[in-house]
Amino acid sequence: MTDRVFNFSPGPAVLPLSVLQQVRQDMIALPGVGCSILEISHRSAAFLDILARAKADLVELLRIPDNYRILFLQGGSRLQFSMVPINLLRGASQPADYIVTGSWGSKAALEAKREGEVRAVWDGAGSNYDRVPSSHESFVNQEAPYLHFTSNETIQGVQFRREPVAGQVPLVCDASSDFLSRPIPVERYGLIYACAQKNAGPSGVTIVVIREDLLDRSSHQLPGYLSYRKHVQEDSLYNTPPTFGVYVVGLVARWLLDETGGLGRMDEINQQKAKQLYDVLDNSEGFYHGHAQLACRSRMNVTFRLPSDELEQMFLQQAHERKLHNLKGHRSVGGIRASIYNAMPFEGVTTLRDFMQEFRNTH
Ligand code: PMP
Repeated sequence: MTDRVFNFSPGPAVLPLSVLQQVRQDMIALPGVGCSILEISHRSAAFLDILARAKADLVELLRIPDNYRILFLQGGSRLQFSMVPINLLRGASQPADYIVTGSWGSKAALEAKREGEVRAVWDGAGSNYDRVPSSHESFVNQEAPYLHFTSNETIQGVQFRREPVAGQVPLVCDASSDFLSRPIPVERYGLIYACAQKNAGPSGVTIVVIREDLLDRSSHQLPGYLSYRKHVQEDSLYNTPPTFGVYVVGLVARWLLDETGGLGRMDEINQQKAKQLYDVLDNSEGFYHGHAQLACRSRMNVTFRLPSDELEQMFLQQAHERKLHNLKGHRSVGGIRASIYNAMPFEGVTTLRDFMQEFRNTH
């Protein structure tokens, strides 16, 4: 087998090895089908079975109540930045409320402004997005059509520990970079969306979990593809869905159920993994400077800086030589970002941890 490195890419990101092996095995012919997932109709019995199982496994993993529907869409989370307001804000008499905790939340709010009125109920720009609000800090308007937040900011590495308080207002969450990383109380949400390419599968498929009553808000005048109502009516088969992506999301969901032991266990593992790296930051006497405030540190994207650009360059280069790849921070923030999604093996994290300690000792 070609050597695999420890891939800390923020997305598309590492996938479980057993999932990749299954994909490889099925790539010539799915068992009982005689051809691959890339070659069968989205209306074939084989694909309908894959779709149904992927949904059932997501329901089991996230304990999704009966009054929610699951969609597999294209267009990434960026399209959801638009579809959410197109479906839920259009025609509303009050602005939509957004909690802005980083680059992605800010982009989501900007897109929503094209559609209607938006109110930023909290914006962390003043402290360079190093934290999320605590529950008493955001003031949701109880008449708002929805409250949007980003559960994990992939670029800044700040994460909500629990949902913001929304009262009766539907809570809409961009969960792109921590979807399936921990259990969440789905019944507290109106809508959850997540592009798959971080924790759940390949790029090209986006998962939307929507509470049924919100479908009534989608105008009948909307272009078909932009309407949640339409996609639910057609069970994600309004147009040809991203069949390969749905298939891989299904394999990842199975992996979580069968090999990891579900989201509670995954959460424990993720916390342990993140602790390995944050402990190094905290014990480095300022050599490594973490971006996020302690209470909001992301368990998915660990962001930090070194004392100089030169040292950061050297760090990246030496890490790469040890098969610790894709650690460069996002261009808008700089520094280092270690993305340690579900599929990052523990060994990858401890190898990085040891390298960080060694690098600090020598510099
Ligand atoms: N939201 C978050 C939190 C993200 O991390 C990303 C992708 N990095 C996006 C939205 C945009 O996703 P996509 O590229 O699939 O549109």
